[in-house]
Amino acid sequence: MIPVADNSSNDLMSVCKRRGFIWPSFEMYGGVAGMYDYGPLGCALKNNIVEMWRSIYKGREGFVEIDSDTVNPREVFKASGHLDNFADLITYCQKCQAPYRADHMVKDYYDNPDVLTPKQLEEAFVKYKIKCPACGGDLGPVDEFNLMFRTNIGPGNARVGYMRPETAQGIFVNFSNLYRYNREKLPMGVIQTGRSYRNEIAPRQGMIRLREFNQMEVELFVDPADKDWARFPEIENETLDLIPNTTLELTTMTVKEAVEKGVIANRVLAYFVYTTKQLLLSLGVDEKKLRFREHEKDEMAHYAADCWDAEALLSYGWTEIVGIADRGCWDLSRHAQFSGEDLSHFKKFDEPREVEVEKIQPNSKALGPVYKGKAKAISDAISALPLSAISDGKLKVTVDGEEIELGSEFFQVIKRTEKVAGERVIPHVIEPSHGLDRIFYTVLEHAYDYDEKEDYVVMHMAPAVAPIKVGVFPLMEKDGLDDMAKKIYESVHTHRVEAYYDGSGTIGRRYARMDEVGTPWCITVDYDSLQDGTVTIRDRDSKEQKRIPSADAARIIDDLLAGKSFADL
Ligand code: AMP
Repeated sequence: MIPVADNSSNDLMSVCKRRGFIWPSFEMYGGVAGMYDYGPLGCALKNNIVEMWRSIYKGREGFVEIDSDTVNPREVFKASGHLDNFADLITYCQKCQAPYRADHMVKDYYDNPDVLTPKQLEEAFVKYKIKCPACGGDLGPVDEFNLMFRTNIGPGNARVGYMRPETAQGIFVNFSNLYRYNREKLPMGVIQTGRSYRNEIAPRQGMIRLREFNQMEVELFVDPADKDWARFPEIENETLDLIPNTTLELTTMTVKEAVEKGVIANRVLAYFVYTTKQLLLSLGVDEKKLRFREHEKDEMAHYAADCWDAEALLSYGWTEIVGIADRGCWDLSRHAQFSGEDLSHFKKFDEPREVEVEKIQPNSKALGPVYKGKAKAISDAISALPLSAISDGKLKVTVDGEEIELGSEFFQVIKRTEKVAGERVIPHVIEPSHGLDRIFYTVLEHAYDYDEKEDYVVMHMAPAVAPIKVGVFPLMEKDGLDDMAKKIYESVHTHRVEAYYDGSGTIGRRYARMDEVGTPWCITVDYDSLQDGTVTIRDRDSKEQKRIPSADAARIIDDLLAGKSFADL
């Protein structure tokens, strides 16, 4: 049994606010629930997380990145299904009119309340005597509330638009451009990070449920008949903590076993579930507080072949931070259907194959006497029609602007053997969708530690994500110690390594300030440094200190960032 995280999120949030990680937005105007701004340290931490995500998907996997619009016309979300289905269930207090997310009101009585129907929720309010938490009034009927922010594109109501509720659609609507860019080959991986907007009914839990948030989404387009991944053997013996929807029990198994036992639907999905684990651990997420839960059958979108959530244990309980889904052909089929664009992939056979095809053949003998001079043009128009053009045994063609309806005596369906080079398939989509703000918060909560001995907070952040990598201090800001410290600061502070010069307060206070924001190493210049050119380097977690030549400081920080242990310096 894994203990529930014991850090109070309030303490963490107050450190975050005080030290410039995050600030509630528009605080001077009373704030808006579910909105936060990133301060300087938050921005640096967030960028580091994005860079580590990029290094896996762009770097290791070779995927491409795009940046698409956040305001989209209505048609996009009609096709994607968001316009009709992207809703939460809402109830209003009958007395004070306060709005509530209906499933949240019953969470103490059900393990998975988001599978309940409006009627079941209304019944649960009565059964468990659930009232308005604000005034004790009765909760009213449960309705759907669409979570998208609506706007107008241009003046008036000419074109209705919506703020995107996910970054993914920007990739799907650019499929043809991307496919061309990728020289019409599959698999094709595309990533996008940016803002998404959801008008959440009652955002609570700090950064977990935001109205404007950041996503890092990956859309991998694959051949439906080839759900494998070349690198799978490299990770097949690694383990995953999984909660399958068949048993609902936590079980640890290798990635290979998970696929062979049918727990995860296919090798490509399993590979990216494991990739998600790799990324989260490298960001400093605690392995003991990470698990993958499969969506229950009635929780999964009807088109999804399989869907897993990476859940982190936070002070709020187990929380979804990444969703990894096999979305089948849903997205591209819908956009093809609504836009009329061909979004298929031409899959070339190794060898041309002989296939039997059905075609419409014009009956020239019948056409000639009836249509005379137009018979040839009608015959050509019939030959160009697909089989699906036959309706109620009849065909319609347009010749010289005239629409002509033709009965079955003017054509016939014939079977023919043809040599074909390949076939058209709609690619399937594997989607690892990361909630950047939730990952950001998880990194902070899992790094948070109140050091009783020192009586201050230490953030044990992974060096790669830490916003400041090294603090540089002169023992005193005089006698040339400050000049030497500033020189060291200049040598280590690069675009990749953020350093922080601090000359005020006791050394203890300065260490405390750096520990509190997760800075892994601090360098101090003292009077010996002026004599022998060495400085002290201190490790945040072990508190161990060593002397190193000041001229080597930049290289040593690089080595430490590359993974060298402090003990081996
Ligand atoms: P979804 O499209 O709902 O599967 O969301 C993908 C990821 O975005 C989730 O795993 C969450 O981490 C994140 N996410 C979804 N909704 C919100 C929200 N309102 N605030 C912050 N993060 C969110």
